[in-house]
Amino acid sequence: MPDTNAIITALTTICGAKSVITDADETAPYLTDWRKHYTGTATAVVHPGSTDEVSRVLAYANEHGVPIVPQGGNTGLCGGATPDTSGDAIVLSLKRMDQVLSLDLKSNTMVVQAGCILETIQRSAEAEGLLFPLDFGSRGTCRIGGNLSTNAGGLGVVRYGNARALCLGLEVVVPDGRVMNLLSPLKKDNTGYDLKNLFIGSEGTLGIITAATLQLFPAHQAVVTAFAGLRDIDAAISLLNLCQSASGGRVTTFELMPKSIIDNVMEHYPDTVQPIADIPAFSAFIEISSTAPTDAMPGLDGTMPLNNLMEGILEASLEDELINDATIATSGNQRAALWAIRELTPESEIKAGVAYKSDISIPIEHMAEFYHRAAAAAEAIAPGVRVFGFGHLGDGNLHYNLCIPRQGHPDFMALFPEFDTMLSGLLKQYGGSISAEHGIGQKKRHLLRDAKDATALAVMEAIKKALDPNGIMNPGKIL
Ligand SMILES: Cc1cc2nc3c(=O)[nH]c(=O)nc-3n(C[C@H](O)[C@H](O)[C@H](O)COP(=O)(O)OP(=O)(O)OC[C@H]3O[C@@H](n4cnc5c(N)ncnc54)[C@H](O)[C@@H]3O)c2cc1C
Repeated sequence: MPDTNAIITALTTICGAKSVITDADETAPYLTDWRKHYTGTATAVVHPGSTDEVSRVLAYANEHGVPIVPQGGNTGLCGGATPDTSGDAIVLSLKRMDQVLSLDLKSNTMVVQAGCILETIQRSAEAEGLLFPLDFGSRGTCRIGGNLSTNAGGLGVVRYGNARALCLGLEVVVPDGRVMNLLSPLKKDNTGYDLKNLFIGSEGTLGIITAATLQLFPAHQAVVTAFAGLRDIDAAISLLNLCQSASGGRVTTFELMPKSIIDNVMEHYPDTVQPIADIPAFSAFIEISSTAPTDAMPGLDGTMPLNNLMEGILEASLEDELINDATIATSGNQRAALWAIRELTPESEIKAGVAYKSDISIPIEHMAEFYHRAAAAAEAIAPGVRVFGFGHLGDGNLHYNLCIPRQGHPDFMALFPEFDTMLSGLLKQYGGSISAEHGIGQKKRHLLRDAKDATALAVMEAIKKALDPNGIMNPGKIL
């Protein structure tokens, strides 16, 4: 490998001096992940300004065996964008490539550079009366290249699918620097292997996404937001199915919220409004949306305002004892107050202490049994642990997080491998997955071999070797 000066000279020649950072204070934010669980070192952080510059950086790195760590908004939760501690890597940040390139109102598609911030994409679509439905808490910081590389999920997957389902085309720079143009907006293209989907979810281990063609949808014109106290987790599943059938599949968000989380949000954010008087062990946060132009939507008997529809669902659920109480937002402020509980969940978790985080998925019929068995097993490993198992129940995906106050258990992080083993074992029994949306990164790499089918793993290894024979792309991640 060339010495540091030679690498920096080469990067400066390609991208310009201003785009190559080596100062320790300036590089520090790129070398630690959002949760501050991983810290690495790097020769430099480089900010290419175009696909051509990315291509030339990769060609140089490939020729000289310099490891490349791609980075978008650095909000990933598996350490995928953090280099190792060898100091050999270059962090390649897509931040400068942050433009919306075009928006087509006939096909409802948008072409963006990989460094475009998710919220910018959402706002650009909104300005044209359209919707880009990928959405979650880090929307103001994360970037579409990172979203696609992790195949991100979030709050709207139950209706619109994850990042993969929203992407029609990609531009990718492969490790030897060649540019692969798959940016076509075609919905149907059966010309061989589906290479776009190979790069989506590959966490920067196969190449660098530099641009994407995204699918947009008609904007929501009416929405109803509700919060319901549930009998139990199985009741959540019945309520979800009821909401789906009664609304014609218009559920846009369905989140399971345990009392532990709601109590924690209210403890750390005392201005939060308690949604219902008596909060049971589990509640559901629900949103149903319509693209109909008025505050009405097609119902079985012609038109039915969305709030009436939700009232009907909740009344039937009360009668069937699926829920014990519920509230429907009747103003923008009330809606914001309900959303605040969900949005403050990750921050309140940080305030609560040290948290073991996961993003598991499980066939929905096993959700309740899994939840309680895992809680009992976690308590046996760490007595007093708080189970913060919340999230995207509509997708069979929970953030099954385990938390303890900072002073409560000095060696709590040393127990993480035991939690890993416990959760992986249960997930295997129930046919679940160790990663529903955050990816593998460096965090779950040690779990993959046991979790994945052996032949599938061998095919993944062969693909990696074929595309990146010199192993420069994000070493130490996934495989
Ligand atoms: C408060 C909060 C809430 C969150 N909620 C959710 C949620 O509900 N659902 C969810 O799925 N995630 C969630 N996340 C996780 C995170 O925001 C997502 O994983 C997001 O998609 C990462 O985007 P990023 O731009 O920050 O990527 P980074 O963190 O920068 O990178 C993530 C991975 O992608 C690779 N990468 C980045 N850009 C490129 C590129 N252009 N080409 C190739 N590889 C690249 C990196 O090397 C790394 O492996 C949340 C995070 C936070 C902090």
